[in-house]
This record gives sequence, structure tokens and C-alpha cells, in this order.
Amino acid sequence: MTQELGLESRTGSLPPEAPHPVTDDRPVSACPYAGAFARRPTKPIDHEAFFVGELDRLRLEGRYRVFANLERHMGAFPKATHRAGRRQREVTVWCSNDYLGMGQNPAVLQAMHEALDRCGAGAGGTRNISGTNHYHVLLERELADLHGKEAALLFTSGYVSNWASLSTLASNIPDCVVISDAGNHASMIEGIRHSRAPKKVFKHNDPRDLERKLAELDPSVPKLVAFESVYSMDGDIAPIAEICDVADAFGAMTYLDEVHAVGLYGPRGGGISERDGVSHRLTVIEGTLGKAYGVVGGYIAASDALCDFVRSFASGFIFTTSLPPAVAAGAQAAIAHLKDSNVERMQQRDRVALVRRRLAAAGIPTLDNPSHIVPVMVGDPVRCKAMSDMLLEDFGIYVQPINYPTVPRGTERLRITPLPMHTDADVDHLVDSLKAVWTAV
Ligand SMILES: *Cc1c(COP(=O)(O)O)cnc(C)c1O
Repeated sequence: MTQELGLESRTGSLPPEAPHPVTDDRPVSACPYAGAFARRPTKPIDHEAFFVGELDRLRLEGRYRVFANLERHMGAFPKATHRAGRRQREVTVWCSNDYLGMGQNPAVLQAMHEALDRCGAGAGGTRNISGTNHYHVLLERELADLHGKEAALLFTSGYVSNWASLSTLASNIPDCVVISDAGNHASMIEGIRHSRAPKKVFKHNDPRDLERKLAELDPSVPKLVAFESVYSMDGDIAPIAEICDVADAFGAMTYLDEVHAVGLYGPRGGGISERDGVSHRLTVIEGTLGKAYGVVGGYIAASDALCDFVRSFASGFIFTTSLPPAVAAGAQAAIAHLKDSNVERMQQRDRVALVRRRLAAAGIPTLDNPSHIVPVMVGDPVRCKAMSDMLLEDFGIYVQPINYPTVPRGTERLRITPLPMHTDADVDHLVDSLKAVWTAV
């Protein structure tokens, strides 16, 4: 969860703008660039020193990001080879968003191999200029059906789908006001900001506060309520029906990010909105093809007219090469598989329940929530990083530390995502290792 507050204050914490550099205005000869030379600062500005200084600040706070260099093992998910310097070892991944292992599902791989052999590597253009492949068309139909909507529209990622759709809707609908949940993801915040539409932030998952915020607005202006179903860092779930009740009472449109729910919830994987039987009440449902569906890409599902509008006006849709056909084919196979199969969802739920039970018994504090996300709360960025390092180096367990600005300061955590493929032995080893690390660090 990238908090509205977190992101705003991140921008706020940058140093104030430097005063305009002193210029050297000695007279110069009749050189064609004389004017430009005259505007050079007398003392060169050290741009590199700025970058290095800012990075040092991150390190000091313990929130400098180090990427784990992984090589995922096909057929052995969630095992991977981790490389650090010249050392390499096999690790068990405990923080993947490939929630159901669809990234290695045989049906997905077969669809991707076939499409690659039929169509080659890339799409070869933007959607408008030669880049609409038949696989894109099939995938958009699959997505519309998944959410019971008239249409769907593909983007190159979930981030881009939120950014492009929200900015296009809010900037083009005259006088539109956006009402945004305080826990919304960075991609939604940036889209809303880019639209320059007026924005109000309502308290996280609080329909009563949403009601107060809507009541303050002129009844005649168009309104768009933007929120998520499963919040990725706390794992809590929005009261979608109540939020729709409030939005309806004020004639507001609703925009729901189901990125951490599609594939995982609802009898066909249509997300929390499908599980709760409220898909039809949402104006827009947004999702990703990169998490439970195991590939990459993003989308919105909505009415024919709304999708056609975003298709026709969104810069982030129009001016970029479309997804490779093989990616579209793989995503479609993953969605189709999870529409029919409950096996992966049931196994995942079983693993989540087991991990929670075992961590509770071991006295390790987790944030209680009704989803598949198990946040182990550490509350300090340096300790969080040290625990993650020790898990990796001493126990072969990979859980990335989650620090500010992804979560608010003081709520640093290890975000554990149990997967259908984690064995009982994997769970035993995780809990024993966490216990050891918890007392050692
Ligand atoms: C990951 C994420 C996105 C972005 O999806 P990608 O496909 O990874 O770009 C959007 N919204 C939320 C809530 C996310 O966690």
C-alpha cells in the first residue's frame, strides 16, 4: 500500500529548489553560441554529487533498495537460484506475486510456445498501427467475460492501466472530481495527479467518510470514486457493496483496482467484486495479468463506450507498442484455466491458513486480515532489512523487506505470500527460521 500521505510527503521531503545559478556575463566574441556560453554558471554544478548524496540518505535510513538477483526454476516453483557476488545458492521464494504459480502452468506455457511459433516475438506496432494481433482481441473478449462487462481494454501493465485510465477519465470529463481511498496504490495516485482534476481523499475503507466527502461536493459535478478490493500491503478488503451504495446515492462513478484479487477470488477468478456478486455495480474494474495470471500486462473492463473512449483518448494506450502476442496468448490461457479450476485457489487458501496458524503458535506478530497476504510486522527499516538478509544468507529463504514509501514509516514488514506449491516442509523451515531470526536480530 503506497499511502496517499506517504507519497505526498516523499515529494515534500526533497530539498528545496536550488537558487538560480550565478551566471558569467562577461562580453564574448561573435560566436553563434555566445548567448548560451554567457549563461553558463561560473562554478560547474555537480549533478553526480546530488545523486550520490540522495542515495546515501536512503542508505542511512535503512531503506536503500537492493534487488535479489534470482533465476526462477521452471517446474520447481517457488525455488530459484540466488546470486550475490560470486556466490550462488538455491532459495525458496516467499514473497512472489505469482500467487498461484500460473507463470509455470503447462497450459500457459503451451499457449505461449504456440503463439511464439505462429507470430514471432513482438507485436510490431502500436495497437492502431499494425500492432493489434488476433491474440489481443481474444484476450480482451476473455477479460470482458471474466468481469461480466461489455468490453475490456489492454495496457502494457497494471500500473499503466491505472495511470492512463484515471488520468484520461478525470481530465476529459468536464468538472470531474475524484474521490480517492487513502490507501490507494501509487499508479492510481499518479494517474489522478496527472489529470489535474480536483481530488478528495477519503479515510481508508470507510464508506461513512466517503459519504461526508461526497456530500461536500456540488451535486451537479461528475464524480469518480477510486479504490481497491484487496490492499496489497495490509491485505485488508474493501466493503465494495457499501462503497457502491454511497457512490450510487450521489450519482458517482466507481473505479475498482482488483489487481491483488483477480484469479484468486470469486468462483471464476473475477475478483472480490465477483465473490460479492457486485461486478455489475462498478463502472470500471481494473486488473493485472502480471500477478495471479503469471504473465504481464494490465487492463480495464467496463462499458463499450467507456473502453472505446479510453482507447481513443488515452496517451498511455495509444502511443506505445502493444504486448507481444505470446504474452496475450499466455494470459488468456491463464484466465481461461482459472475460470474453470478451483484447485489452485483451494491449495493456496490451505497454505495461507497453515502459515498463519504456525506463525501465531510461534509468537511471530502478523497483521490479521481476511486475504492471502501475511504481513509479518517488524516496525523498523534497519531491523527489517537485517532480518531479510539473515533469512536469505543463513536459511535460504527469500522475503524482501518492505519499507517506506511502499508502507508508512514505522510499519516496515516482511510481506509473506504463501503459494499452493509451498510444501509442509517449506512451511516448517520458514517458521523455524523466522523464530531464529526474530531473536537474533
Ligand atoms: C502491482 C499493482 C499495480 C500495478 O500492476 P502491474 O501489472 O504490476 O503494473 C496496480 N495496483 C496495485 C494495487 C498493485 O499492487
